[in-house]
Amino acid sequence: MSQEVLRSISAVVDRYFGRVLKLAEEMISVPTVNPPGLNYEELAELVADEMDELGLEVSVHEAPHEETDGGGSKRLNVLGKLTFGPRGPSIHFHGHYDVVPAGGGWSTEPFRPVVKDGKLYGRGASDMKAALAASVYVPVLAREAAEELDLRLRGEALVSATPDEETGGQAGAGYLVEKGIVRDVDYTIVPEPTSLTYIWHVQKGCLWLKVVLRGREAHGSIPDLGLNAFERMAELALRLVEHDRALRSRVSKTPAYPEGANRASLAIGGMCGSGEAVNVVPGTAWFTIDRRVLPEESTREAEEAVMAVIRDFERDNPGVEVRVEELLRIEPSGIPADHEFVRMVRKALSDVLGLEGKPVLCPGFLNTRYFVAKGMPAVAWGPGDLEQAHSPDEHIELPKLRDWLRAAVYLVLESLR
Ligand SMILES: [Zn+2]
Repeated sequence: MSQEVLRSISAVVDRYFGRVLKLAEEMISVPTVNPPGLNYEELAELVADEMDELGLEVSVHEAPHEETDGGGSKRLNVLGKLTFGPRGPSIHFHGHYDVVPAGGGWSTEPFRPVVKDGKLYGRGASDMKAALAASVYVPVLAREAAEELDLRLRGEALVSATPDEETGGQAGAGYLVEKGIVRDVDYTIVPEPTSLTYIWHVQKGCLWLKVVLRGREAHGSIPDLGLNAFERMAELALRLVEHDRALRSRVSKTPAYPEGANRASLAIGGMCGSGEAVNVVPGTAWFTIDRRVLPEESTREAEEAVMAVIRDFERDNPGVEVRVEELLRIEPSGIPADHEFVRMVRKALSDVLGLEGKPVLCPGFLNTRYFVAKGMPAVAWGPGDLEQAHSPDEHIELPKLRDWLRAAVYLVLESLR
């Protein structure tokens, strides 16, 4: 596109950036802490009102609360839509409005936003309320730029704001796709913190297991009469550490952001427990396993390898009973690096900002997986920084937010022309 287009986009973004910032600040001021999911109603109303004022067609969808962990407020999903023409492609900006608890170590008030030296501080600034506030404005800014440039757009632009991403997203993105509220969308952008230049187009899967060992209790003064489940657990744990070492040599062909996170891994003991009292030989002991699965693997394969280690252990430890419970299973997911949509995002970065977009693997899980599972191409790409997410003094660099907004408006113009 021409210089004229870039100039027009910059002018529109400059006109609205103050309002975007104000909305971001208002959103940070609502402590939507999850777990357990607080103040969702207030946040949803704030976003819905803003969308309404901007002229989007707004709907609010409440996901059943029982399906979630319990506690907190109503699970409200806000969807805004701007229709440009009856037929044509659709582009969707999707963000979560919940944040992790503030934690300690802040030099500002986590839920009192502050702008200082070109940065906006507050819990959720990078992950991802500022990007969500910008997303709310993207469709309207695209319409204004198109009008100025005399471009005819078709199709529609959607924005969704959802709860519960920090605890899995089932009542948020999961609900929107399961109920078909968001369906057949051509392009979904999830502006999670990727430092503007990274594009998470694939994500690792995971398998969370709880392993329970049963031995035999005895009085602590005559331990030989028992079978110490904790001791046996320690041995099994060491065997799994060996298994993890072997896994680290498995490297995905896709580089990761953060760098080096493209190896398979297994972390044990995230949670564990054993025994009843100091003077009782523990009859049971348990621990958890967090196995992260590469796009080149499957959770089934990963599970079989873990089970092989456990079966070997059982053979060597007669009398110890091992039970394995599945806590969570998410398959790796994504779209190829050379997918048309990834190319479009990279083109926007290059045309508008002169930056090279880097398609990479995300080691954690993202809401993109819900859309991809229903055949809707989705990537995570946003202006925040990953080091800021979940950290004290969380902030976002405002020039990056502005740049992302310009590239996002451009992307809408390009995809709906
Ligand atoms: Zn996030």
